[in-house]
Amino acid sequence: MSRITDSLERLRKELPEQVTLVAVSKFHPAEAISEAYMDGVRDFGESRVQELLSKAPELPSDIRWHFIGHLQTNKVRQLISHVTLIHSIDTMRLLEKVNEEASKADRSVDVLLQIHVAAEETKFGFAPDELTEAITPELLERLRNVRIRGVMGMASNTDDKARITDDFNRIRSCFDKLRHGVMIHSEYFDTVSMGMSGDYRLAIEAGSTMIRIGSDIFGVREYQR
Ligand SMILES: *Cc1c(COP(=O)(O)O)cnc(C)c1O
Repeated sequence: MSRITDSLERLRKELPEQVTLVAVSKFHPAEAISEAYMDGVRDFGESRVQELLSKAPELPSDIRWHFIGHLQTNKVRQLISHVTLIHSIDTMRLLEKVNEEASKADRSVDVLLQIHVAAEETKFGFAPDELTEAITPELLERLRNVRIRGVMGMASNTDDKARITDDFNRIRSCFDKLRHGVMIHSEYFDTVSMGMSGDYRLAIEAGSTMIRIGSDIFGVREYQR
């Protein structure tokens, strides 16, 4: 059995039913994606717009592409016709821009709000408090071409399991606050995207509904070698 098939089988055995697996294929070639596709994967994650746009036409059209990287506003227009879910809305300006471009294209785009809780300053996202203040009923009323489906976040890059769990709990509690607050009437606010190869088990314990796994499936990325 190949590495990809093998690791997918192992992962799937472990995942609770309510958790969606997104296979993060960034920096891996279309052939690797095809192989995972043959094994039944339909959700793939990419972190660069150009890379997603160049791979998508070579691959089956029923793939659901997830955008998980930092997104520049000038790339939004190109991206939205190809993407199923944008995980990485990290500013109000970007949220407005996605709404604007989606409106021009006469469609609706599903998005997650990225929350920053990790120790590293380099990670993008809203602070939890900032988010619960910024998302108001007036804003939701106005943004008719985006559907806010939930939140995304990353834990600190550390071996300290308590710290990682603490980070995931903060992301989850931010989701719960929104769900019981401003999103209470939303039928589709249902997604907590957290957990990567090194920490997905802790993420699931903390209430993740979507994990983003790259190296555990595809091996070490080219740029990391
Ligand atoms: C690359 C990446 C992943 C996957 O990371 P692995 O450690 O390879 O599983 C998940 N989420 C985001 C946002 C990423 O950029």
